[in-house]
Amino acid sequence: MTLVLSRLIRHFPRLLAASAIGLVAALPAIAEPIPAYEEVAAGIHVRTGLVEETSPDNHGAIANLGFIVGADSVAMIDSGGSVADAEAAAAAIRAVTDKPVRYLINTHMHPDHVFGNQVFKAQGATIIGHEKLPAALGARAEHYKLSMRDQLGPAAAGSVTVTLPDETVTQTRSLDLGGREIELRAWPTAHTDNDLTVFDEQTGTLFAGDLVFLAHVPVIDGSIKGWLARIAELRALPAERVVPGHGPASAPWPQALEPQTAYLEALAADLRAAIAAGVPLAQATESAAAGQAGQWQLFDAFNGRNATAAFAELEWE
Ligand SMILES: [Zn+2]
Repeated sequence: MTLVLSRLIRHFPRLLAASAIGLVAALPAIAEPIPAYEEVAAGIHVRTGLVEETSPDNHGAIANLGFIVGADSVAMIDSGGSVADAEAAAAAIRAVTDKPVRYLINTHMHPDHVFGNQVFKAQGATIIGHEKLPAALGARAEHYKLSMRDQLGPAAAGSVTVTLPDETVTQTRSLDLGGREIELRAWPTAHTDNDLTVFDEQTGTLFAGDLVFLAHVPVIDGSIKGWLARIAELRALPAERVVPGHGPASAPWPQALEPQTAYLEALAADLRAAIAAGVPLAQATESAAAGQAGQWQLFDAFNGRNATAAFAELEWE
């Protein structure tokens, strides 16, 4: 009896693994549910994006999205990675308020943030982005549609119409949602060349877009030097909490800046040392920021690309 039991316990992990494999094989692929919205501060609703790369199963619901409810109207911040993602956001708004979505604010050009634009435009929202967003998104539109076909699957990708902003911001712009002012701010090149943040004065909540990453390794599609140069300005913003572009729904400010600053600084320092020592690009990018690997999700998916882009930038200092 004891022997049987101990053998069973000894083999339990293997038995469990075997039954799990059988279970997975028996189930058809099921799309993951789009994450729900939660109220992180009064009138500020955010859903936490999945820390994954876009796939047909996750509808591109990988970025943090949110909306701010004023006395007269609603501002949506980013529209999601697919039409389904945006429709889920629109339904979440309707569950909270019947006020119109007057504005859709795009924090930058990446597909997981703008591929639901058409849904809010059809509802009458004015789409607002950085002054460089129309050119940047326009230039990438065809490429994004092709890559999305692979990532989202042909049906979901085919339903997306790349939709550009109606209005742009050069420096700052205030929007009044009715007793609630929000400030939009266009930033110099950092994560991309078209990063825009949204600050809600009433609650001290900063929607940073992808100027702030937590959990998900930062992705450089603009300038590592530019991004590092903005850290002090970001830190000085009078926010209480941040909604990062990826990671938890909200986090205390400015402490939320620390992990990504450490990553960007390590990447720049390692690459500068490699460049000074004459290490070739392929070798340098393999080891750059390796000490940060345990701190981040999706590190292997993005660190090499970040290192390659940053190497090219730092090589010419
Ligand atoms: Zn991004």
